[in-house]
Amino acid sequence: MTATPPEDWKPRPCPTCGKPAAYAERPFCSRRCRLLDLGRWFDGGYAIPAVEDDDDADRETLPDGDEDA
Ligand SMILES: [Zn+2]
Repeated sequence: MTATPPEDWKPRPCPTCGKPAAYAERPFCSRRCRLLDLGRWFDGGYAIPAVEDDDDADRETLPDGDEDA
């Protein structure tokens, strides 16, 4: 799939980094900047905390074993 910009299309500065936007990723210059911008939205809304798996804590608790040695 080739995105060909119309002749009257002019790249605008990427909202993320300021480079000329790529037509296929407009208004961003790249997919990376698109994702970065999306990430900024998430930061403003709600932060995504590092996933803390509570199951890991259970592994540290060893079951009562029969240690008659
Ligand atoms: Zn960019």
